[in-house]
Amino acid sequence: MMTDIMLQVYVLGIGAVIGSFLNVLIYRLPKNQNFVTGRSHCPQCGRLIRWYDNIPIVSFLILRGKCRECRAPISWRYPLVELLTAAFFLLAFRLYGFSLQTAIVSVFFCLLVVVTAIDFQFYIIPDKITVAGMIIGLAASFVSPTVKPLDALIGLIAGGASLYLLALVGDFLFKKESLGGGDIKLAAMLGSFLGWKSIIIIFFGAAVLGLVYALIYMLFSRKMRQDRMIPFGPFLSLAALIALFFGNYLINLYVERFLALQ
Ligand SMILES: [Zn+2]
Repeated sequence: MMTDIMLQVYVLGIGAVIGSFLNVLIYRLPKNQNFVTGRSHCPQCGRLIRWYDNIPIVSFLILRGKCRECRAPISWRYPLVELLTAAFFLLAFRLYGFSLQTAIVSVFFCLLVVVTAIDFQFYIIPDKITVAGMIIGLAASFVSPTVKPLDALIGLIAGGASLYLLALVGDFLFKKESLGGGDIKLAAMLGSFLGWKSIIIIFFGAAVLGLVYALIYMLFSRKMRQDRMIPFGPFLSLAALIALFFGNYLINLYVERFLALQ
């Protein structure tokens, strides 16, 4: 019992440390900086961040969200990403234990976190993430207990194709570029991880979530402008998580309803 709790605390810790690395990716990828080597600096005063000020979640609380040297505010994105990653790792571990499935869904979640954070801030989805993600998704299908290689390949093509068609319709309706190539590659990556059936859920889920967000945004935003962009990557990512955990349930529900009509 005790070892079980310690194991779960350990998993939480690993999640928080990996979340901390994801923060580095989120900061450096859009700037094309090297994200493997090099210590982190305060973007305001340029001071090197010491190891004891770089402990996930804990340091943010101790520093009360401010740089030790210049008191510049540290973005709440840092502890949030660390907290979410830690929570997801624990959830995956509790659901699937020590298994390949835990490893696959954890990597998948990390990719979604990086895409979501970067797309929200910069309105881009780096190819480095989506193309690497497609390769990992396809490779994972050879050992995955749920998604088979052919399923992953069809998912990749169906995901990219659906978003490409949606982009064509969007461009026609809004008379300007509505969805970028990044969204298309992201959908292909999602399909490679989750298989072709999930594309339907992701497609409609993301559309509904994005629409609800846009409506709320228009109602409450003071500085709303006509040319204001809304990133689509975060909604594709959120819909992908719904498909990951509730996909089978939703598909079965649909099949039952559909067959009941026969
Ligand atoms: Zn500073």
